[in-house]
Amino acid sequence: MIDSLEIAQLGNPILRQQAEPVKKITDKKLQELIDSLIKTAAAANGVGIAAPQVSQSYRLFIVASRPNSRYPNAPSMEPTAMINPKIVAYGNEIVKDWEGCLSVPDLRGLVPRYQTVEVEYTTRDGQIQRQILTDFVARIFQHELDHLNGLVFLDRIESTQDLYTEQEYRKLIDN
Ligand code: ZN
Repeated sequence: MIDSLEIAQLGNPILRQQAEPVKKITDKKLQELIDSLIKTAAAANGVGIAAPQVSQSYRLFIVASRPNSRYPNAPSMEPTAMINPKIVAYGNEIVKDWEGCLSVPDLRGLVPRYQTVEVEYTTRDGQIQRQILTDFVARIFQHELDHLNGLVFLDRIESTQDLYTEQEYRKLIDN
């Protein structure tokens, strides 16, 4: 049985580091880390989680969009490990929408992101994938990629007026 891992919170220096590329994908420890990340994201109602958030400074994150109490309108997909991910092309449109972060509890912010990105990553089986992502899943990818470069969504907001507490955000979306 895999336990959920402790999530590093804002202020922890690991969240501000540049993460290291993953070299050996078949490594048992890496495969176990992927399983633990998937479990940790699900337990915390996250739709994504990056390895630095569990204090493992590697270029790896999980995208696991599904509707849950924190993101009721999220599309459903299988949790996917994305290793050594990068953006290879950007669409023209930038859209602002709500984000939260397991490392920044009780805050939501309106964050500008590219609506469409073409991405490349290695799967946990070692296959290189190239995909075009749009809307919410593209947003998760960009948010998680930031974590690998020492950034959090607070660094991307245009104004502190775009920050809400979880409680005020709930009032807004429940209306
Ligand atoms: Zn985050």
